[in-house]
Order: sequence, then structure tokens, then C-alpha cells
Amino acid sequence: MPTEAEKMIKAHELLKQFYHHILVNTNKGQEAFEYLHKRNFTREMIDYFQIGYCLDEWDASLKFLKAKGFDEHLLEKAGLIIRGERNNNYFDRFRGRIIFPISDYKGNTVAFSGRILGEGQPKYLNSPESPIFQKSKTLYNFHNARAAIRKKQAVVLFEGFADCIAAFGAGVENGIGTMGTALTDEHIHLIKRNTDNVILCFDADTAGQTATLKAGEMLAGAGCDVRVAIIPDGKDPDEYIIKNGPELFKNEVISGSITFMSFKMRFFRTGKNLDNEGDRLDYIEKVLEEISKLDNPIERDIYLRQLADEFSLSIDALKQQQRKIYYSIR
Ligand code: ATP
Ligand code: MN
Ligand code: MN
Ligand code: MN
Repeated sequence: MPTEAEKMIKAHELLKQFYHHILVNTNKGQEAFEYLHKRNFTREMIDYFQIGYCLDEWDASLKFLKAKGFDEHLLEKAGLIIRGERNNNYFDRFRGRIIFPISDYKGNTVAFSGRILGEGQPKYLNSPESPIFQKSKTLYNFHNARAAIRKKQAVVLFEGFADCIAAFGAGVENGIGTMGTALTDEHIHLIKRNTDNVILCFDADTAGQTATLKAGEMLAGAGCDVRVAIIPDGKDPDEYIIKNGPELFKNEVISGSITFMSFKMRFFRTGKNLDNEGDRLDYIEKVLEEISKLDNPIERDIYLRQLADEFSLSIDALKQQQRKIYYSIR
């Protein structure tokens, strides 16, 4: 007898194929297919990521699974259907949405995320936590990307589904996604079993940059070598690739990633006017504090020199101040 978890996974595997079939082979999936096509998702990307479409009908998924012997309670517990409050009828969770299947690290399909076609709220609707799906342990595309992560000894971390998929289309096969949530210690543990080298490639907006700082600190604290890929002009990776093409994305954004320390120096500048003395002193103090957190004395020296050059300060004065900060924070 299969366990409850095994049945839930089986239901997800069957639905994944069903949703994919509707998207690529049927008239009812055509509008969704055209939406994806307009967003530069090729058939190859759609197949590789097993993207699908959930019919805009009340209970097509439920009927499909019931016919295969699944019972409603199990499907509700797995987050695939919802019970209506008024008449107690079950209906499909992802009605009328484009479906991104989500796998656990072993490759079992354990959840879905459904995107609305075009504008509307919520933009993405995710499976709830269930016995087979914990967000804190799940990274989008991790199972597929694992071989490439190991081979390249590097992983590229994105926020969104579209970013991961567009990057894959651009030849970045070692990309995975946090799906918009905060990075957890469990995520880091999964990553570190495969590589210590992490390139953060979050959205260029304030939320993305703040998340980069947070995730970078956690990864660096766990002993990872962290680099940051900078997306110019307020875009996310998917939009960048559409506008500038795959070559520039690979060769400039990813290959041109900067050290986490350089990212922090950029980050602390935002909103500051460095011609203003007060702002400048604040900035220098903040950077010295960050330099003090570095364990490697050679690295500390590099950034101290950089700072000294930039503001025409004596390296000795900076070193003295940095040591003071060093002792006050340890
Ligand atoms: P798209 O390119 O399709 O418009 P995006 O990935 O650029 O989407 P963001 O707003 O940048 O969307 O969000 C990043 C990620 O956060 C999404 O890919 C998704 O995983 C997650 N996310 C966004 N909105 C929601 C939501 N309302 N509920 C749950 N997760 C969400
Ligand atoms: Mn975002
Ligand atoms: Mn985005
Ligand atoms: Mn996007």
C-alpha cells in the first residue's frame, strides 16, 4: 500500500502531465500558450520545466483525479482542491492559471504555483504547506539544476520562476529560485551539499536588493563565497534577457558578477550624496564596519586601499579606525 505522501506525490505527477498536455496540445490551452510565447518562453523551455495550464472550470482537476481513484480528503490536504464555505463543494485551486510544477530535492513533484494570465491579484498562487511541501526546504529547479551546479561548482540564485526559466533559455543551467521567499538555513544546507559558490541574481528593485543583502549575509556566514550579479536599470533577470539578449546576460551580468563586499559598498551608497561630508563619513564608517567582518586580512587590505583611493584618505588613518571598529564589534 502506498503511503499518504506517496499518493499525494502521485496525484501531483498525474496533474502535472494533465496540465502540460492541456497547455501544449489543446485549444483550451491556446490563450495561455500564446501568453507564454509573447513572454519569450519557447516550446523547449515549456517542455523542460513542464509548464502547464489549469482549465478555467470549477473542478476539472478534481474530476480527473477522482476518475483515477483519488479521494477528496487527500487532495484537499495536498492543497490541490479547496472546499467552498457556502455549499461544501470542492473546487480546483489553480483555475485558469499557468502552472509551474515545483519539485522537492529528490525530483518528486510536490506543489504547484499558478500565474494569472496578464495582470491581476494574486499574480502567483502557490500550493499551501502540506505533508509533502515545505517552502523553507524547497528551491525551484534545484533537482534539475543539481548536475550543472556540481559540474560548474557554482549556483545562481533567482527570485522568480520566469527568471530561472529565462536564464535557462539563455544557457544558465545552474540557476535555482527562492520563489520570492526569504532564504532559510535549510535552503543553504541544500546548496552547500553541492557547492560553496553562490551568485545572487535577484531583482534590481529595492525589495530585491534588500533581499540580496540579507541572503548574502546568511550565505557568507555559512562559509559560502558570495557574488552578486547586477541587473542594470531597475529590471529583473527575465526582463533583462528579453531586452538585451542571452549573450549579454551570460557574458556581462553573470560573468561580470561582483564580490559581496563590492555589492555592499554599492548598496550603502544608495540614497547618499557622497559630496556631502556627513553622508561621506557615514558611508566610510559603514564600509569600515563591513571590512571588519572580513576574516581574510588580504581582503581587508584590498578594500581599505579601495576606500583610501576613492576618498583620497591615508591608508593608515583608515586602518586605525577600522581596528577600533573591529574591537568594538567582536
Ligand atoms: P513575472 O515575471 O511573472 O511577472 P516575477 O517573478 O517577476 O513574475 P516578482 O513580483 O518579482 O514576480 O516575484 C518574485 C517571485 O515571488 C515570483 O516568481 C513568485 O515565485 C513569488 N511571488 C510573487 N508574487 C507572489 C504571490 N502573490 N504569492 C506567492 N508568491 C509570489
Ligand atoms: Mn521581485
Ligand atoms: Mn521579478
Ligand atoms: Mn518578472
